[in-house]
Amino acid sequence: MTEFDLLIQDCLVLLPDFSILPDAAIGIKDSRIALLESVTADSGSYTAREIIDGSGKLAMPGFIDAHTHAAQQLLRGSVVDELPMVWTRILVPFESNLAPEDVYRGALLFCVENLKAGTTTFADAGGPFMEMVARAALETGMRGLITRSTMDCGQDIPDKMKESTQVAIRNCEHLYKDWNGAGDGRIRIGFGLRQAMTSTPALMEAVAARSRELNTSVHIHLAEHMAEVAHCLTQYKMRPAEWFEHFGLLGPNLIAAHCVRLSDKEILLLAERGANPVHCPHSNLGNHGFSKTPLMLALGMNIALGTDGVSATRLNLFEPMRLLKFAMQARHGVDINDPLALPAQEVYHMATQGGAKAVMQEKEIGRLEVGMKADILLLDIERPHLTPTAHLPKTIVTAAGPDDVSDVIVDGKLLIHNHEFLNLDEDRIRYDAGQAMLDVGRRANFSFESFI
Ligand SMILES: [Zn+2]
Repeated sequence: MTEFDLLIQDCLVLLPDFSILPDAAIGIKDSRIALLESVTADSGSYTAREIIDGSGKLAMPGFIDAHTHAAQQLLRGSVVDELPMVWTRILVPFESNLAPEDVYRGALLFCVENLKAGTTTFADAGGPFMEMVARAALETGMRGLITRSTMDCGQDIPDKMKESTQVAIRNCEHLYKDWNGAGDGRIRIGFGLRQAMTSTPALMEAVAARSRELNTSVHIHLAEHMAEVAHCLTQYKMRPAEWFEHFGLLGPNLIAAHCVRLSDKEILLLAERGANPVHCPHSNLGNHGFSKTPLMLALGMNIALGTDGVSATRLNLFEPMRLLKFAMQARHGVDINDPLALPAQEVYHMATQGGAKAVMQEKEIGRLEVGMKADILLLDIERPHLTPTAHLPKTIVTAAGPDDVSDVIVDGKLLIHNHEFLNLDEDRIRYDAGQAMLDVGRRANFSFESFI
C-alpha cells in the first residue's frame, strides 16, 4: 500500500489539455505529484499522513505571475488616477526611499495576497533590496524567480538608484550566490535590466554574458511605451527589440514584460529567438496600449501573464486572463468578425504553462501531472457564478476569482486550508506592512489622503 504525505480525495482536476478529470485523487509525496487518477473500483488502495476532502473542489496548477514587483506592494492606492509622469513623481521617490525592512514587510504582504489568490510562483523584475523579497518568499512558502533590477544611466533617475556597471553586476552575482536554489529550489535568481533607457551598452553586454554563463534568466521591460521606442530610434537607430538583439539578449531565457509597442518585424525576431513576452493587461491598457497577441500566437510564441505588481490592481491572474481575452477581442477580433482572437484555453495556458516556460521551469510546474512539483490550488466550484456550467474550464477563465480559492499547496506543503493560512499571521503581516507604508510615505513626502 502506498503512503502519501498528502492526499486530495474526490476532487475534479483541470488537466493540461483544458479537460476535466472527474472523481479524482491526487497523491503527493516528497513535494511531487505521485498519483493523479480517476478513482474506480480497480484503483489500488493508498493512505496518507494528511487527507483533504476535495468534494465540490477543482484542483488546478498554481498560477505563475511572470512579471511583478514585490517592492511596489506599499504603493497600493498611490498611482490610481495619477497624471503623468507617474515614474518620476511617484515611483522614483518611493523606490529611492525604501529601506530593507520596508521591502521585507511589503514582500510578506505581497506573498500573502498572491497565495490567497492561487498564485504560487512569481517572477519579480526587481526593485531595491531583493534579498528581502527572497527572504519573504522563503518564509511564506512561495516559489519565486527573483531579479535584481539594474540601472547604470538615465535621466530623471536619482544617483542613489543608479550604480556603476561593475557594481550592478557584482550585486546581481551576490544575490545569485546567496539565494539561488534556496528553499529546496523554490527560490531562483535571474539577471535583470530595468529597461533600454536606463541601461548602458556595457551593462547590456555584461548581463548577456553573465546570464549565459550561469544559465539563468534575464528579466526586462520591453516596448512598454512610446518614449522607450523614441529613445532607441534616436540613440541607436534601432527599435527596442533590435537593440536587445544587438547584445544577443533575445533568447528562451528572456522574460520580456509588456511587449506592446513592437513592430511586426520585432515580433518575428522575438519569435525566431524563442523569447517570452509577458503581457500585463492592467498596466498596458491603462498606460501603454494593446499588444499584438493574436499575431504572436499565430507565430507559435510562448506568452505569459503578469500583474506588474499591486500598484494599479489586485494581485491575481484571474482578472488579467479575462481582461486580456476581452481586450484582444475588442482590438483584433471585432473588426474581422473573429470570436477567437484570444480563446479561453490560450489565455489559461499563458497563466500556467506559458508562465512556467517563461521562468524556465516548464518541466516542474504549470501542469498537474505525475512527476511534476505539487503546486496546486483548490477552487471552490459550488458557487453561483461557477456551477452549473456546460464547460467548467471556460467558466473558470471567464468567471472565477481569487476569492474562490480555498486551498493552496506549494512544493507539496499545504499552506492555505479552507481560505486560512496554516502557519502565517495574516493580520500581523497586514499591520506591519501598513506601518512600513507610512514610514516610506513620510520619507518620500507623500501625502496620503485616506490612509487606512
Ligand atoms: Zn514592471
